[in-house]
Amino acid sequence: MRIALVSEHANPLAAVGGVDAGGQNIHVAALAAELSRLGHAVTVYTRRDAPNSPDQVTAPDGYVVEHVPAGPPTEVPKDELLPHMLAFSGYLADRWSREPPDVVHAHFWMSGLASLRAAARTGIPVVQTFHALGVVKRRHQGPRDTSPRSRIAVEEMLCRKVDHVIATCDEEVGELRAIGMPPGRASVIPCGVDLSLFRPAPPRGREDRRDEADARRGAQSYPTIFTAGQPRPNGTPRQLLVVGRLVERKGVADVVHALAEVPDAELLIAGGPAPDALDLDPEVTRLRAVADHAGVGERVHLLGRVEHADMPAVFHSCDVVVAVPWYEPFGIVPLEAMACARPIVGSAVGGLLDTVVPGVTGEVVPPRRPDVLADVLRGLLADPDRCARYGAAGSARARRLYSWQRVTAKTEQVYAQVTAHVGAGMEAR
Ligand code: UDP
Repeated sequence: MRIALVSEHANPLAAVGGVDAGGQNIHVAALAAELSRLGHAVTVYTRRDAPNSPDQVTAPDGYVVEHVPAGPPTEVPKDELLPHMLAFSGYLADRWSREPPDVVHAHFWMSGLASLRAAARTGIPVVQTFHALGVVKRRHQGPRDTSPRSRIAVEEMLCRKVDHVIATCDEEVGELRAIGMPPGRASVIPCGVDLSLFRPAPPRGREDRRDEADARRGAQSYPTIFTAGQPRPNGTPRQLLVVGRLVERKGVADVVHALAEVPDAELLIAGGPAPDALDLDPEVTRLRAVADHAGVGERVHLLGRVEHADMPAVFHSCDVVVAVPWYEPFGIVPLEAMACARPIVGSAVGGLLDTVVPGVTGEVVPPRRPDVLADVLRGLLADPDRCARYGAAGSARARRLYSWQRVTAKTEQVYAQVTAHVGAGMEAR
């Protein structure tokens, strides 16, 4: 199949960890790579956000990234991109009139809008993955939500007009039904995890050269992670790890508050701007103030953005991974933690309800409850056997259910269904 993936703000080749670059970039990159490996011709359309990026580039994994001129060729916050979507869809319409893809898969609501406009009257089926929903964001952020006001109405329109919706977790289907998606229009296909990168740490003394190199690199680049992949010497504090974009809703401040009630533990926070730009970041300043106020400033280490390839070493170095967002469309980080055989404490929201099995791969706590989180963390840190059991079960679960191969095979089935439907409709005409 000729497959067009449309991802207006999330470029699969971008560095992740910043405010607008995270799970969607990883998702689109992994899906494009796996579809290419299966023999499909995949083009990812993403907005040009640098003047010198080439019109087209072939990624090492075999898919093509096309940089669409729409708006200024500089970084623009995603909540300010809507006015440029007309130009984006005009570009797509032109490209697809010359070389129509068999199927379009739009990622995020603005990509859906641009794709639907560009594919109108062509018969090209459009599949939509929202990644996040405006109605949920509005519920949690209220007046601080910076999304364009039309977002919710556009999402309501999309879930009626596209050929199929791919939701990433069960909770999302409920949200979509509540905004008017007709029954039977969505399939649940989770995000995946790169199992060749995210693996359990090898037992001591059995490291292969790649693991040693990874650990050394992790240790050099991020000095607080001095024992990447290795048990720490007795008496060193236990390490908790949070990974993600530094946005308020990720609940990092809740973990900092909880730390005040978890003695002898340190908190590593991976994500945000590059390490040398940490001091300029308002969310970093806020988190530092929260930590100082809670009396744990010396036990909180902000690492800044960590190269994705270095993430396994960071996971291996910690005792427990904490992911307690206020809401979460899916959450790839808990899967990465599980694949690395780390126990996870997650909040009972969104995709974490599907991925984390309480009492088996980790523990689940209500969001925004640092007191409950602290209780659970104290119990877990005091019980290394339970940590090891959760880690092993998490790694088995990630391998069984969340490989990108499995996720892509399910996505391919959706493409086959919508393209067969178009064919049947054309014959009937
Ligand atoms: N990530 C990274 N470096 C960082 C911070 C995050 O590589 O410094 C990656 C992380 O490993 C994960 C992704 O960014 O693959 C975050 O995805 P998730 O779905 O958890 O959150 P989102 O960004 O979509 O809200």
